[in-house]
Amino acid sequence: MRIIFIGPPGAGKGTQAERIVAKYKLAHLSTGDMLRAARDAKTEVGLKAEKYMSGGQLVPDEILVDMIAERLKQEDCQTGYLLDGFPRTIAQAEALDSMLDAKQTPVDVVLELQVPEEELFKRLAGRGRADDKPEVIRERLVAYTNQTSPLLEYYNKKGKLKSIGGLGSIEDIFAEVVQVLDTFA
Ligand code: ADP
Repeated sequence: MRIIFIGPPGAGKGTQAERIVAKYKLAHLSTGDMLRAARDAKTEVGLKAEKYMSGGQLVPDEILVDMIAERLKQEDCQTGYLLDGFPRTIAQAEALDSMLDAKQTPVDVVLELQVPEEELFKRLAGRGRADDKPEVIRERLVAYTNQTSPLLEYYNKKGKLKSIGGLGSIEDIFAEVVQVLDTFA
């Protein structure tokens, strides 16, 4: 199963992603985690990315597209994966589509986790990551609204989008996720 997981920062995507990959035995491709690892290792990509991440801006598309293209070639991705945090722009989605079209391995479903903005701000402010300062949180939410949310319409038109409410207990939300994913597994 190949899944794209979309949701605003603070929606609880990371928590649900862990459960999804464990249950369905998928590779977990979190671009946020990959970029933080690159930053901490001080690689060329990591140092470049850091400038954007620390301000809550998106890292340039070409960096992400190259990173994902490499990752998707690896053995553990051949039986299925969860893309968590990618694509985040229409350009990234188009690049991903052409990669997957070439291999004839389309995405099965695009799962959206929906949470109202007031709730996101509350959650993020209580988290304490380096990019969780109020002004940076605001930038990340703006980036989501302007650059990422157009993907919902993009995938909806392709008939791939399934949306789930992200309010409630972790267990209840996961139960809804499973209900959707079981139809593709
Ligand atoms: P969030 O909790 O905001 O969803 P992530 O952990 O997914 O954050 O990503 C952290 C940061 O990494 C983002 O604010 C952005 O700067 C960068 N990033 C991650 N994925 C992408 C992507 N697909 N395109 C551009 N930038 C990205």
